[in-house]
Amino acid sequence: MAATLVLFHTNLRVGDNPALTAAAELGPVVPVYILDETFGRPLGGASRWWLHRSLQSLANSLKGLGAPLVLRMGDMLDTVKNIVDETGATRVFLQHGYDPTVQRGETALHDWGAKSDVEIKRFAGQVLFPPEQIRTQQDKPYTVFSPFWRTCLKQAAFAPLVRCDTITPVAKQPSSLELDALNLLPNGFDWTQSLAEAFTPGEAQALDTLDAYLDEGLKSYKEMRDHPGHAPGTSKLSAHLRFGEISPRTIWHRTQDAIARAPELARDGEWFLRELGWRDFSYHLLHHFPSLPEKPLRPAFNDFPWTDGPSAELEAWQKGLTGFPIVDAGMRQLWQTGWMHNRVRMIVASFLVKELLIHWREGEAWFWDTLVDADPASNTASWQWAAGCGADAAPYFRIFNPVLQGEKFDGDGAYVTRFVPELKNLPQKYLHKPWEAPTAVLEEAGLKLGEDYPHPIVDRKHARTRALAAFQSIKAEKP
Ligand SMILES: Cc1cc2nc3c(=O)[nH]c(=O)nc-3n(C[C@H](O)[C@H](O)[C@H](O)COP(=O)(O)OP(=O)(O)OC[C@H]3O[C@@H](n4cnc5c(N)ncnc54)[C@H](O)[C@@H]3O)c2cc1C
Repeated sequence: MAATLVLFHTNLRVGDNPALTAAAELGPVVPVYILDETFGRPLGGASRWWLHRSLQSLANSLKGLGAPLVLRMGDMLDTVKNIVDETGATRVFLQHGYDPTVQRGETALHDWGAKSDVEIKRFAGQVLFPPEQIRTQQDKPYTVFSPFWRTCLKQAAFAPLVRCDTITPVAKQPSSLELDALNLLPNGFDWTQSLAEAFTPGEAQALDTLDAYLDEGLKSYKEMRDHPGHAPGTSKLSAHLRFGEISPRTIWHRTQDAIARAPELARDGEWFLRELGWRDFSYHLLHHFPSLPEKPLRPAFNDFPWTDGPSAELEAWQKGLTGFPIVDAGMRQLWQTGWMHNRVRMIVASFLVKELLIHWREGEAWFWDTLVDADPASNTASWQWAAGCGADAAPYFRIFNPVLQGEKFDGDGAYVTRFVPELKNLPQKYLHKPWEAPTAVLEEAGLKLGEDYPHPIVDRKHARTRALAAFQSIKAEKP
């Protein structure tokens, strides 16, 4: 019986994986992961660590079902051709992706399949609502979230989840690289230990994380999702979703089940699913505006007077040494754990682009390298949103005040003192503005500003005036 090659890329799971289930029903399956740095954006360091662990977990699951995972490196199309030749497979099944480079790769596969009599079939699964399916009444893509989500909700009738209980392997297995040969882990100094303390990649952990969150966290999602210092706050599912260890449909169904069991969860559950909607919205934007990673959605921002190139201020931001405690706590959380709380992502992004006037692409690139959930759609869409040049973006005059944001969302300083421990003896009143503490208070707290913790790197009043002038110098047009 002819075999089917199943390509894994951003669907590193065996549960609710329509491509895998369909292939397993047809006969023998060759599960394959190909590391091709041109099929999707080349991964940053933290994502490479996650991918290594995730592939380990996927390989174990597939082995348990009956077929080993084949690992290869190199050009996607050439490698697929080789494996098809080696196994005599007549079909290639994969999950449809929306990253522009992935779409180019899929088209190349499709064209080759049509010429070579190999069936190439793409399955939905990366998002809840495929971008091509959601259109405005004028048959255009959406650029504002709320109407986008209202339209999505009208189409929210999902088929039941699919499962795969057993896989028939091919008689002659193609060769596979060892996982270490993909070179995903850092050479030399291993900085990934703290990531491993914060997260466990893999499908089993993704499902456990979701279930634990639905049991413990969902009931206070709306109220606590903006408070970074107090667990569980948000679900921390983002990296699991990014690598497709869990399908968004699984989250949708299990959340609806939780609401059906406990109707008092309805308000928080709907809010939680709405956030998942922002992920879909990001993919909607990336699909319809494929230049999103490089170019501002609002053309007026092409002329925005960003400050040039790498600078001491950019470095201070990256290292969490700006002198603004909530910004520094966020940047250190990112460095230590590979993740940052959403509220704090908004604060640090606003600080970079508005207070320091540093190009959003510098921030986006740093996040891309350091986040375990670095996502080609959500990261670029969110950075453009923060800079004011994206869809549904914050108005230019909305400049997050890091002191007020800190006091509002981390009033007791639980978050700031966890990641900026040098401030832990300061009275709460000064935790988000240590420069205002009288000398005696600083002495009592054993804190020397400028030595133990930096003075603020910008004068906020001046920075705000400069930002407003810069934003007024361009005409903000709709995309
Ligand atoms: C500047 C900036 C950069 C960002 N970069 C990324 C990124 O690279 N990857 C990424 O997944 N998210 C990104 N986000 C969105 C958001 O911060 C994270 O998705 C969220 O913090 C993940 O935590 P969670 O899983 O606990 O979220 P929860 O609140 O539990 O939400 C559940 C899921 O919904 C999705 N989600 C929630 N909020 C958003 C949002 N605003 N935009 C898109 N999806 C959302 C995520 O997949 C998340 O896992 C960024 C936000 C900002 C402001």
